[in-house]
Amino acid sequence: MTLVEARELEKTYRTGEVAIAALRGVSFSIAPASFVSFIGPSGSGKSTLLNMIGCLDPPSGGSLIVAGEDVSRMNARASARFRGAHIGFIFQDFNLIPVLTVFENIEYPLLMVQNWPARERRERIGQLLEAVGMAEQSEKYPHQLSGGQKQRVAVARALVTRAELILADEPTANLDRETAYRIIALMKAMRDEFGSTFIFSTHDPKIVSSAETVYTLEDGRIVDQTTNGASHG
Ligand code: ADP
Ligand code: MG
Repeated sequence: MTLVEARELEKTYRTGEVAIAALRGVSFSIAPASFVSFIGPSGSGKSTLLNMIGCLDPPSGGSLIVAGEDVSRMNARASARFRGAHIGFIFQDFNLIPVLTVFENIEYPLLMVQNWPARERRERIGQLLEAVGMAEQSEKYPHQLSGGQKQRVAVARALVTRAELILADEPTANLDRETAYRIIALMKAMRDEFGSTFIFSTHDPKIVSSAETVYTLEDGRIVDQTTNGASHG
């Protein structure tokens, strides 16, 4: 079974006369409940690739299947619906809504895509607050949290709709090394608990050791693939 399948994926950005080939024929397949990292220097194409997988920007060539659907030719409305149903996002600058509490930030995606009774929303959010270790902070606002705590909230928010695929573009870029390790470990624990696939990017070779598969990007191509042996639990 495959959750994400890319074949000869290409992306060329055109600005006026200039064309930049950001992805030059990238192929891979990722199974459900995987924990996968894309690493590579700045400009190697990591964000471009995650944006394609996340249906935020269409590829210029090749094929891309996510959760059984060809997402390479979806229009904007269809990709927005697809994202809401299948994908959660974690950002390097956390992207929490400043006027909402921790609880409300996690609740927000549920209000957007699903019409749930308040009691069931509270139960699910309570479970996630426990899972990410933020139950004591649920009434706080983002400005009252450390970077690591903000990213814990963002992990819970990404999981609240039970998305089968979580995309995290450099989720540890704004965290110190120790906190970065903890966040990656938390993401992996969430994979174990909820079965969501996590795909994260980083330019830091030291934090990818917990990924099961590591793809190295260079100049828009995969130049290396390492498998670290399944290490569940
Ligand atoms: P990474 O995330 O690994 O740093 P990116 O995917 O952001 O790499 O960028 C890959 C290449 O594509 C770089 O050369 C970058 O300058 C270029 N690029 C990225 N986004 C755009 C854009 N919106 N318009 C033009 N060029 C872009
Ligand atoms: Mg990037």
